[in-house]
Amino acid sequence: MGKIIRAIDEWGVVRVTFADTTDIAEKAQSIHHTSPVATAALGRTLSMAAIMGSQLKSPDNSVTLLIKGDGPLGSVLAVADGDGMVKGYVQNPAVDIAKKANGKLDVSGAIGKGMISVSKDLGLKEPYTGQVPIVSGEIAEDFTYYFATSEQTPTAVGLGVLVDRDYSVKRSGGFMVQLMPAAMEEDIARVEENISKITSVTQMMEDGMTAEDIIAKLLDGFEFQFLDSAEYEYRCDCSMDKIKRALISLGKIELEDIINTDGRAELTCQFCPEVYTLEKADLEELLESAK
Ligand SMILES: [Zn+2]
Repeated sequence: MGKIIRAIDEWGVVRVTFADTTDIAEKAQSIHHTSPVATAALGRTLSMAAIMGSQLKSPDNSVTLLIKGDGPLGSVLAVADGDGMVKGYVQNPAVDIAKKANGKLDVSGAIGKGMISVSKDLGLKEPYTGQVPIVSGEIAEDFTYYFATSEQTPTAVGLGVLVDRDYSVKRSGGFMVQLMPAAMEEDIARVEENISKITSVTQMMEDGMTAEDIIAKLLDGFEFQFLDSAEYEYRCDCSMDKIKRALISLGKIELEDIINTDGRAELTCQFCPEVYTLEKADLEELLESAK
């Protein structure tokens, strides 16, 4: 179970969220059999999605993060709802590339250049969407840029995944520090100084720091209190019903084509190992609904 903790300073101008997503990234690795660099890219994106999901107002709300780069991994997608569910996938999970000269996984090289889009379904008629170019490809910097430009909230994001020798996930986590409009120069300077002093997310976790310790370090010099915590887990909400609805939305011509060429459809969920098989009679029934 991934754990997310939030804290706020006494004036309500600095908000910090920390997520331990080790179990989430580990589950994603075992489902998608990701290479180490794909595990890092997907794990970081899942952490960001879980953090953003934990800030949604209603359990039915959801947030979808899509990193559409031109690198060998292809697209990376993660979805989280306001109720503890997070899931995701990477287009080319088996792709691996050489590590950087410093021995770190080359996430930016695997992601490449392109766009990041954030879509929030808040139960309104139209989802909120924001789009920014990929500025670094290391994901945390990209979301820092997204919050500053698209949501006009000065934000610092740190995301990390430590992959073990056997490809399993040793540590995964992330933090987000957001400054509210009432933050003063000295608050901003203090936050910047605190962030400059920390090592990486995974290093702090490796050093045995708890979520509370890490938050205290990010809020060093501030009076603060812990707000709340949430549990997130890698979970999929797919169902035969949803698959059928997706098939119907393809339209009559597409469906007729499937019936005439394959005569049946076998669809694997993109987020989990579930396989849905529809025989000819099922497809013909859907064709009726599509008319
Ligand atoms: Zn599924």
